[in-house]
Amino acid sequence: MVSAAEPAEKVFSFEECSRIVATQAHEAAHSRVPATECLALLESLGRILAEELRADRDFPPFRRATRDGFACRAEDVSRVPALLRIVEEIPAGANPIKALARGEAAEIMTGAPLPPGADCVVMVEYTERLADQVKILRAATSGENFVAAGSEGKRGDVVLNRGTRITYAVIAMAAAIGAQKLEVMKRPTVAVLATGNELVEIGEQPATHEIRNSNTYSVGAQVLAAGATPVLLPIARDSREQIKGSLFAGLQHDLLLITGGVSVGKYDLVEEMLKEQGAELFFTGALIQPGKPTVFARVPQGKRSVYCFGLPGNPISTMVTFEIFVRPILHALAGGTPEHLPLAQAKLEEEMKVKPGLTRFLPARLGGDIHGPSVKPIAWRGSGDIVARSAANCYIVTPPDCTQLRAGDMVTVLLT
Ligand code: AMP
Ligand code: MG
Repeated sequence: MVSAAEPAEKVFSFEECSRIVATQAHEAAHSRVPATECLALLESLGRILAEELRADRDFPPFRRATRDGFACRAEDVSRVPALLRIVEEIPAGANPIKALARGEAAEIMTGAPLPPGADCVVMVEYTERLADQVKILRAATSGENFVAAGSEGKRGDVVLNRGTRITYAVIAMAAAIGAQKLEVMKRPTVAVLATGNELVEIGEQPATHEIRNSNTYSVGAQVLAAGATPVLLPIARDSREQIKGSLFAGLQHDLLLITGGVSVGKYDLVEEMLKEQGAELFFTGALIQPGKPTVFARVPQGKRSVYCFGLPGNPISTMVTFEIFVRPILHALAGGTPEHLPLAQAKLEEEMKVKPGLTRFLPARLGGDIHGPSVKPIAWRGSGDIVARSAANCYIVTPPDCTQLRAGDMVTVLLT
């Protein structure tokens, strides 16, 4: 019996499911405070920063020339040509000795500090050197071709926040302030459980009616890419006993991801088994394709509770639902501050017919150039077509009311 307060079906739009995920991600961020560890700078790539880092000096620390040329006083070169006396050469790494007086210039290289008295750099291309003098051929204004000291960041400013995902740019920032080690969040562990009677492990030879378990590996790879540690559980057959045992093993981790067994078939037992464990079901379906039967739940486990997803078994459904729903929760469990989905707009290369009613994520290939990215759908035979998906590098996202797209239309693309 289903009570009125608890409708059997909790199938919502993509936006609604995303909102539910975001709300739970917010809760997850507060319920799990990850332990931290200290890693050498490069080893921290992909992890979440557990400390706040401040600039140990001004950025730049001195007035840094951004061009090779001649440092001078703008008032001396407001009218050109102007002849200035060269008093010094300042390569990068040198400390200027002389302050420029009226009518003087210093030969300067990119990255070198401007000498006192100078307030601009004239690019070498606009000068003519005559022994110890330089003829300035183009007028310059104060502030040209150098970056003021402290204009990028002041000593003591927070330059990296706790919760930031460590990218190569973050590593550059940390290196620039002399951080050889970083305090990072320990990785959450994520149990990955594939269910299905038709599955064999990848080292086994499948019989004609069997297929290899690829989901455990695609999900494992997505977990790794998200900065967490996958724990690959053995395949569970479509039996209540086996699923129950695997759920118990899976719930020992920070997150449990199950693939398969969430549709309405006779052998789709995951939702039922989650309910039996007292799970709180946030949604049991999303109006998306691929990925409609996705289940998102929280399962009590002793004194704590564990988030759990039942992802549809079709390989592309599994991949898509991980990226749009699992990733935000995992990122929150890992101690990261919320991130947006990596969406962009691109020009459609060819006409497309789309079935309305669902938000669709259609495998596609991004191309074009800096003047305009373009995207081309990849012919596919539905959410089980890993061959097509392997040739794709993004998804075209179409809203439920979309029926047709013309070549040249701007479309939303999920980059992943
Ligand atoms: P299900 O969600 O269990 O109904 O499975 C839907 C489809 O996905 C079926 O064609 C399954 O054979 C396939 N499938 C399920 N699990 C996996 C898996 N672990 N690896 C590859 N394909 C799978
Ligand atoms: Mg199945």
